[in-house]
Amino acid sequence: MSTLITEECINCGACARECPNNAIYAGGEPWHLDGREGPPLREDIFYIVPEKCTECVGFHEAERCATVCPVDCCIPDPDIPESEAVLIDRARKIHPDTDFGTKFVSRFRKN
Ligand code: SF4
Ligand code: SF4
Repeated sequence: MSTLITEECINCGACARECPNNAIYAGGEPWHLDGREGPPLREDIFYIVPEKCTECVGFHEAERCATVCPVDCCIPDPDIPESEAVLIDRARKIHPDTDFGTKFVSRFRKN
């Protein structure tokens, strides 16, 4: 599942600085992945690129953006449910030089 930023966003930028996957962009900014550039998904508020978000699996025990957001506007996107296996696989693809092992941190398990 991707995390989603809601309309309550006050554009403080705290989440983007914390995301381990660089999945968060300011409104109006194009996003990048594997040398590709995509159009902004929002013009007015920060947004998350679903194909870059791992719900912080592999890096944190909870979604980091949600943890640091001062107005609690980073929430699970109910339209994009994904398993831990899918999310750690994504993390491995985004960070090919990182060995996550089998005991990686995840919001799905008690570490
Ligand atoms: S949940 Fe984690 S990976 Fe996804 S956008 Fe937030 S900080 Fe980035
Ligand atoms: S931390 Fe919250 S309020 Fe700040 S830019 Fe991110 S989503 Fe918006």
